[in-house]
Amino acid sequence: MRMKDVYSKKITSEEEQGGYVIILKDRLSFFPTLGRRFQMLQNGRSRRAMVESYPCSCRGPGLPHSHFFVRVNALNSGDRVTIRKDSKSGTRFLLQVQRHPRRST
Ligand SMILES: [Zn+2]
Repeated sequence: MRMKDVYSKKITSEEEQGGYVIILKDRLSFFPTLGRRFQMLQNGRSRRAMVESYPCSCRGPGLPHSHFFVRVNALNSGDRVTIRKDSKSGTRFLLQVQRHPRRST
């Protein structure tokens, strides 16, 4: 599978607490435009999602910038999320969550 067809990321504690998945800036073009609704399928269920942003100063006060994210509920740090484009339509994405081994009982 080509890299550009999939967005995969390990969840950090920041993402767990915020209830979202950060979208790295260089992969932003993988997703629909900021603020545009699209369908996200998880375990056969569809829901609406969209790319949102918030202002951030993690690089210091001299380098204000934005972070981009998609809201996803019930993630734990250490989980791996994989988001794929549904090849049949450009506005539907498939979300897969691989639970961190430590969490599963
Ligand atoms: Zn930042």
